[in-house]
Amino acid sequence: MAEEQDAGVSSRAQRKALSKAKILQRESEREVFRLVGRVLKKPESERSEEEAAALLLHRDTVEELCKRQVRRNVLKRKQEEVFDGVDELKNKVRQLAVAVKQASHLVVYTGAGISTAASIPDYRGPNGVWTQLQKGRAISSSDLSKAEPTLTHMCIKMLHKEKLVKHVVSQNCDGLHLRSSLPRHALSELHGNMFIEVCTSCSPVREYVRLFDVTERTSLHRHGTGRKCSHCGSELRDTIVHFGERGTLEQPLNWRGATEAAKMADVILCLGSSLKVLKKYTNLWCMNRPASKRPKLYIVNLQWTPKDDLAVLKIHGKCDDVMRLLMEELNLQIPAYNRGDDPIFALATPLQLEEVQSHSREVIAPPDDQNDGSDDPEEQKPTSVQGGWFGRGYGKGRQKKKKKVA
Ligand SMILES: [Zn+2]
Repeated sequence: MAEEQDAGVSSRAQRKALSKAKILQRESEREVFRLVGRVLKKPESERSEEEAAALLLHRDTVEELCKRQVRRNVLKRKQEEVFDGVDELKNKVRQLAVAVKQASHLVVYTGAGISTAASIPDYRGPNGVWTQLQKGRAISSSDLSKAEPTLTHMCIKMLHKEKLVKHVVSQNCDGLHLRSSLPRHALSELHGNMFIEVCTSCSPVREYVRLFDVTERTSLHRHGTGRKCSHCGSELRDTIVHFGERGTLEQPLNWRGATEAAKMADVILCLGSSLKVLKKYTNLWCMNRPASKRPKLYIVNLQWTPKDDLAVLKIHGKCDDVMRLLMEELNLQIPAYNRGDDPIFALATPLQLEEVQSHSREVIAPPDDQNDGSDDPEEQKPTSVQGGWFGRGYGKGRQKKKKKVA
């Protein structure tokens, strides 16, 4: 009995000694890393004999630190913005134009980079939201509703009208594709639309388009906007899909449209997206097919993307510059954005009187002449969106959707 106890004590002592030795070992390794790191930072000519000897002695550490430096450099390079020269850009756009003309089902994927000309910050560019947050800087989103569709938005709308683009899948929540008059059935706003709030208690889901950013009070997992459905009184919610959330709304997300478009696509054109989020939606890339059967990929982005190696062509240029050249090659006019034609004014549901004070965001102002002669009371009623804008049988397959959405 006493022996057993002794054995217990001695094995406990052994374990203790062992873990102490491990701690000491780790400590001394850290010391070596610090020393070697310090020496490596000095130019070779300034290293003392002792320091040079230390490097020789700790070759493994030197190697490990050099590897880490290489990894850091690669990471840094991936974040840098690269610009193709004038001639190279033209050449590449010419190739893109051929692909656009020959495509039988061209689908466009867009990210924040297409809206930067509208002074909406992109996420990962040098001045992007993500980069600024990484640096601990505050970002303001107050100007988002002042933005208007960019040249790129207008070109995409035109390409769709000309039947060259079949569908647009966007990560942007700024609503600018819709405001460019791109028809809704041709659009999937995968992460929501900041001008749309919905009542999910109504069936089909009832949608309210507003002329202001409805997301003032919403955040991750908190989607209530504080306003109420004028039909059933339930609280409305925004349509935004935050990082770490899973979007299940039929509209504006339109996952079904995005998935069907990707299935039929023979060419995918990615504009101004880092693709870091989009790449995770595997059904957008037909990754279940052999590489030769997948849609051909064309990428326009200033920074590296994780799909670059799979792309037929990577164009390093600003989206507006590339689209301007592309339209020239295709001999197409670039339509100007005209606020008078912005569909959001016709689609918007006016707030009820008691809700006028329910937000403090700037309201998109209709053009001055818009109010004349359009006082039709029918139009002033809250739109119960059955079909039409909301469209396409939300009720059907609602159960299935949750599983389908990646
Ligand atoms: Zn309702």
